Amino acid sequence: MTGTKAIGKNLRVDGSRLWESLMKMAQIGGTEKGGVCRLALTDLDKQARDLFVRWCEDAGCNIAVDNMGNIFAQRPGRNSNAAPVVTGSHLDSQPTGGKYDGAYGVLAGLEVLRTLNDLDIETEAPIEVAVWTNEEGSRFAPAMIASGVFAGAFNIEHGLSRSDADGRTVAEELERIGYAGNLNCGDRELAAYFEAHIEQGPILEDQGKTIGVVSGGQAQRWYEITLTGQEAHAGPTPMLTRRDALLGASRTIVAVNRIGLEHQPGACATVGMLQVHPNSRNVIPGSVLFAVDFRHPDDEILSTMDQQLRNATESIAAEIGLALDLEQIWHAPPVVFDEKCVDAIRSGAKSCNYTYMDIISGAGHDACYVARVAPTGMIFIPCEGGISHNEIEAATSADLEAGCNVLLQAILEFAG
Ligand SMILES: [Zn+2]
Repeated sequence: MTGTKAIGKNLRVDGSRLWESLMKMAQIGGTEKGGVCRLALTDLDKQARDLFVRWCEDAGCNIAVDNMGNIFAQRPGRNSNAAPVVTGSHLDSQPTGGKYDGAYGVLAGLEVLRTLNDLDIETEAPIEVAVWTNEEGSRFAPAMIASGVFAGAFNIEHGLSRSDADGRTVAEELERIGYAGNLNCGDRELAAYFEAHIEQGPILEDQGKTIGVVSGGQAQRWYEITLTGQEAHAGPTPMLTRRDALLGASRTIVAVNRIGLEHQPGACATVGMLQVHPNSRNVIPGSVLFAVDFRHPDDEILSTMDQQLRNATESIAAEIGLALDLEQIWHAPPVVFDEKCVDAIRSGAKSCNYTYMDIISGAGHDACYVARVAPTGMIFIPCEGGISHNEIEAATSADLEAGCNVLLQAILEFAG
């Protein structure tokens, strides 16, 4: 197989064809501002799926759909018993989403298959392009529900019973648009899974690198904190006797920020929600409920941050005379991608002569769940200003092509 590999290193996808498919797909649910509104399991999502399926059938693929509506388009290999090497992403979008989030990973996969067809290259293992249902979580919460069911994070009943704001369930909508497949979600062995995606952050652009070799995703801890003092009149109550819950919350926000800054690089620490009671301009706040979001790629450092938060809130509450209720409501362990997959992406970038760097994913992706059941890796490419989940989301044709070339190299490394 050395011969094939040698040819393989020089293989390149057709960047303009990839661009054309992205632009065609973006017309389905296209918005006036140049973005995309294609919510999961709507008629528009059906149109996007139908177009993808038609393109894959034209490329000679066999189509399979599971009972969460995940689509797998397979290009057969020499060995039909071998587990497929899979790539993909999602076709649903945020209400004011962009052209590239998700669609890029799906259509980059299709471009890889088309390139192999053009050059008449057979692989040992089959190659599949996957479309995961409801990645965004915008219409049906939570996000990444179908890759989550695939990886065993949720059971199928839970996945199918999620409902939208009008009470329509995933099961009903899958049936309605004709994508309630007969395969059991998760009953599919993957030799490896690769996902190409726009970065959705500014790091690659800032560093002037084309390819992000994603090593994994961050660990997260979410908290809800309630500080309770005493409501009192803002006029007659002397400063020294006050038990001001908002003062406690403010000091905690400063502490949260300090904890985040103390653990650079890597840590993110945010207070994004605050409920002040009674929220009246001439009443000293009696209680405040607020949320803290901590993230770090290293779970041990995240534990240190956890301890620092607990110490800080205890002493702040004691100083001001407040009752403290601190509850950790979520802990997600870090995602560590497979070393071989990560290496394949790095050497793909190297052999194509692209600039590259290791990077951690700040956002969740289907790949983060799939990593629980298959060797997984991700490729990031820059997006303008690091902006996504926005109609102005933008990426250059050259970067999209580069990411797709690296995807091709990584897939060939595994598919033989
Ligand atoms: Zn996405």
